[in-house]
Amino acid sequence: MNDFYDILGVSKDSSQGDIKKAYRKVAMKYHPDRNPGNKEAETKFKEAAEAYSVLSDNQKKSQYDQFGHAGINGNGYNASGFSDLNDIFSNFSDIFGSSGFGDFFNGGRSSHQRKGKDLKLSIPVTLEDVSSGSDKTIKIKRYESCESCQGSGGEKGAQPITCTGCNGSGEVRRMQRSLFGQVVNVQSCQNCKGSGKVISKPCRKCNGEGLSRVSASISFQIPPGISGGNYMTQRGEGNKGPNGTPAGDLIIYFEEVEHSLFVRDNNDIFVDAFVSYPVAVFGGQIEVPTLEGKVRLKVPAGIRPGQMLRLRNKGCPELNSHRMGDLFVRINIHISKNISKKAKELIKNLESELNENSDFKKFSG
Ligand SMILES: [Zn+2]
Ligand SMILES: [Zn+2]
Repeated sequence: MNDFYDILGVSKDSSQGDIKKAYRKVAMKYHPDRNPGNKEAETKFKEAAEAYSVLSDNQKKSQYDQFGHAGINGNGYNASGFSDLNDIFSNFSDIFGSSGFGDFFNGGRSSHQRKGKDLKLSIPVTLEDVSSGSDKTIKIKRYESCESCQGSGGEKGAQPITCTGCNGSGEVRRMQRSLFGQVVNVQSCQNCKGSGKVISKPCRKCNGEGLSRVSASISFQIPPGISGGNYMTQRGEGNKGPNGTPAGDLIIYFEEVEHSLFVRDNNDIFVDAFVSYPVAVFGGQIEVPTLEGKVRLKVPAGIRPGQMLRLRNKGCPELNSHRMGDLFVRINIHISKNISKKAKELIKNLESELNENSDFKKFSG
């Protein structure tokens, strides 16, 4: 197995931006669409995807920096890498990284087929959505086939005819002179927009475009463990293409909404809990919130403010895995301002009692 840094041609202290740039460059070079049937290029393309999947993830990267390939193995990460190309495309174009990256793959793969435009939108997700993988239904506006002409673009029964601009090839070739001799310049035909056919009698409803803008409902499940900045691609749910070409994709970006109680750090969650002074001293049971409702938590005797108690597997699920993060409960001592006269008396007595106590004196000087 080659070194991940060598594969991408970056150094250990390269920024995430540089790593992404480097990966994009290597992936472009060995992209299967550019190297059809080339097994060596395919291997390099897979290697680069694997290297990037590790180096782009700070946690995996630091594991790799410390322990090399063994660190990635031991972490439950699939070290055998990506088995096939579809694996790579689904991993990197469906749920990954920041904007623009998906375009690169979509653009790369669709260069030889005309299709409709991709639609992009972002939706807010709560920590509860992220944890349970909620089902969502969203309303979007997109181009679909015109109802009046069934997408043909022709007024009732009018058949498309062969374009005279390109004789139906969809391309216009021009010879140009250059320093290197004659160069053939191939361009998409303007007259038929590359389709090779034109509409003799355009549909009045859609002006021959064959498309109309309509509302659509899209249902999907939020992938459990997703983070803000991640996105997923719904294939074929974007705008329908012109002249009956396939629809583009719908790309949904996720924006994480700040939670009123919990703070998330990767798959772990932190929450503050307050205990009374007697509970801190003697121990006891308290109720703490989790993403799935309240649970009882045993507080050990003599706990200090700021100390954390861990509830295993009560955090967030890890993306694309069955593992769960933990919930950390930070203990705070509740100091009440409004207390009864009797309580004041008791605390005064406690204070003088503690002042006699040598253990307390050590700290108060
Ligand atoms: Zn129409
Ligand atoms: Zn044409």
